[in-house]
Amino acid sequence: MTGSARITRILILGGTSEARRLAEALASRTDIAVTVSLAGRTASAPPLPVPVRIGGFGGADGLADYLRAEQIDALIDATHPHAAVISANAAEAARTAGVRLLALRRPAWVPQTGDRWVEVANVEEAVQALGQAPRRVFLALGRNAIRPFAAAPQHIYLIRSVDPVDPPLAVPHATYITARGPFSEAEDRALMERHRIELVVAKNSGGDAARGKIDAARARGLPVIMLKQPVPPVVPSVGAVEEVLAWLDHAMTFAAARGV
Ligand code: NAP
Repeated sequence: MTGSARITRILILGGTSEARRLAEALASRTDIAVTVSLAGRTASAPPLPVPVRIGGFGGADGLADYLRAEQIDALIDATHPHAAVISANAAEAARTAGVRLLALRRPAWVPQTGDRWVEVANVEEAVQALGQAPRRVFLALGRNAIRPFAAAPQHIYLIRSVDPVDPPLAVPHATYITARGPFSEAEDRALMERHRIELVVAKNSGGDAARGKIDAARARGLPVIMLKQPVPPVVPSVGAVEEVLAWLDHAMTFAAARGV
């Protein structure tokens, strides 16, 4: 392990607003080189102020190879809480490559007074939870998770995603909205009113950027079928960008004091 050595090259596994804010906070540093890694799921991600690499690594082994080849000495997993595969790969790759790992994890949302959540473990359970009777459903899951809803074609869907759903979902009644968040509670309340939404399906994403729809559902007294967060790997973790910066500063001060 390189636990006390100097940190000069950082890889941030991104795809979240927190990863973006971290990259922005580190971009002007001359003592460290920062790269952000994106999966490449969205067609046009907004530009970042640091170098970006795009696409999978080829599993945990591929990521470990990358960490070694690029001489990365700190890996920050700032991916979305529902991106379970890459987080597991990050834990394994950091271990095998002997690279320090810190996970930046937003606290999950917890139900508040007035929330009507039905918590489910996966998308298939969410489809079941809609029930047999036709409902007007807002799918706010992103386009990569919606295919299983084709098994429940009796519902009327409002589907919001960053990029177009192509091919469309194989159901007779679906309206598509392409838009990039964050969305405010007022915007999402108006959207739900306009489409006479009866039920919302969402991932428990935590954080502020995606919670407008949850607050809007509460305000309108609507049930939310909430996909629980997968259990993350056991690795050192923090809950805020500022804590990542403090962790880096601490590691660098420690290394400087040891003269390494
Ligand atoms: P996932 O299921 O955990 O990962 C699937 C595969 O995608 C990984 O094995 C890896 O391929 C590749 N991958 C994922 N994140 C990557 C990254 N940051 N850089 C390079 N390769 C990555 O991931 P997902 O749920 O599809 O999410 C993909 C990305 O979208 C993540 O970066 C995440 O932060 C972001 N995102 C996800 C959600 C969500 O709801 N899941 C929401 C918002 C943003 P290899 O095995 O080939 O390395």
